[in-house]
Amino acid sequence: MRAYNVFRSQAALAGRMVRNGPASLTQKRFLSIHEYRSMEQLNKHGINTPKFLPATSADEAFAAAKKFDGKPVVIKAQVLAGGRGKGHFDNGLQGGVHLVKTPEEVRDLAQKMIGSKLITKQTGEAGRICNAVMIAEARAPAHEYYAAILNDRVTQLPILIASNQGGMSIEDVAKENPDAIITTPIDYTKGLDLKTAQEIAHKLGFSSEKLEKQAAETFVNLYKLFDEKDATQVEINPLVETKDGQVLCLDAKLGFDENAEFRQKEVFDLRDISQEDPSEVEAGKYGLNFIKLDGNIGCLVNGAGLAMATLDVLSLNGGKPANFLDVGGGANAAAVKKAFELLLGSKDVRAIFVNIFGGIMRCDVIAEGIIQATKELDLKIPLVVRLQGTKEAEAKKLIKESNLKIFAFDNLDEAAKAAVDKAHTQQ
Ligand code: ADP
Ligand code: MG
Repeated sequence: MRAYNVFRSQAALAGRMVRNGPASLTQKRFLSIHEYRSMEQLNKHGINTPKFLPATSADEAFAAAKKFDGKPVVIKAQVLAGGRGKGHFDNGLQGGVHLVKTPEEVRDLAQKMIGSKLITKQTGEAGRICNAVMIAEARAPAHEYYAAILNDRVTQLPILIASNQGGMSIEDVAKENPDAIITTPIDYTKGLDLKTAQEIAHKLGFSSEKLEKQAAETFVNLYKLFDEKDATQVEINPLVETKDGQVLCLDAKLGFDENAEFRQKEVFDLRDISQEDPSEVEAGKYGLNFIKLDGNIGCLVNGAGLAMATLDVLSLNGGKPANFLDVGGGANAAAVKKAFELLLGSKDVRAIFVNIFGGIMRCDVIAEGIIQATKELDLKIPLVVRLQGTKEAEAKKLIKESNLKIFAFDNLDEAAKAAVDKAHTQQ
């Protein structure tokens, strides 16, 4: 299953800036798992984390908190988004990460967190539902570092990104203090060797040789996990050295390549669809890719490249997409109808723009779907269509004979302009 995602942090993580512009799209081709699941994976690979326990109710959280021998703990919202510490819940509770002293406090906070939505700078205004919390041993950091392994497009290799400026947004570090980021390409035929890892740890400035060695072992094991589990992202922020002399991962964000689902069943069983947009999940069932944006033009396209081009040409004409529905190459008329339903699901949609370049996807199949959808869904908003390529003539004939009010164009720019105008006048 593929889903588009508004491009957020990966390029900035690698020290490269995100493409500028009104918005940009990229395909999301990875599975994200919850922090407590990520920590289980870390532990299995010999990587240290604080002791932790998940809970899905206030009572469970209370019972879990009692297992920490009266020591202070942190309670952390399990929501698939970064920036939880600085986020807030839709019920007013500030912060998705709290340091607490008693099991009673844990219970109260869990009560407020579970069932509420956490809004962070990565979730958008709608926030994301919190169905579980994690209780973890509080381990006071003496210093917070950053470590991540990602695939780098430029070197076409996995890279280890490390910084001694951890605990904050790495995008900000990349912008304000790029020299504080150490990027090391990894030869995937050999893996990350301990000597290289030790040099990186040394540059980061761990406060003793013992800690440096622990950090180096952590890096080596993080790469092993990345490699063995077909990960696309292993991000530890913060990686800390504690006051009592240990290197620990206090937060973990793991992403896995969806192409590897067939051989990573254990990991893919950890998927939590409550964290995904219901319309994206619904689209996936029909083999469609769907992404929501914040404009007012619903867009139906085929292919990621055409989605980008459509976004650009609408922007150039002063318009903004409300969403994108990519029907790919193999959609049938029923899937196209479903696509329309999803496009119309956003309350802000004022016009629909169909931009199809027929190749494997035939224009007449799209036209049939459009006609069916227009009739059955009693479409009230303007529909602008630009169909080109395979079976174009047949498609145009179908549309003409349908007698439906469809604004058809051959030229992309003119079509985009019409879609923008119609969306404006429809306000
Ligand atoms: P997020 O990145 O989503 O905001 P983190 O897990 O990184 O969430 O938590 C935010 C901050 O809370 C961390 O940078 C760290 O300073 C602190 N923190 C997290 N876990 C612990 C812990 N187990 N003990 C002490 N402090 C913690
Ligand atoms: Mg973090």
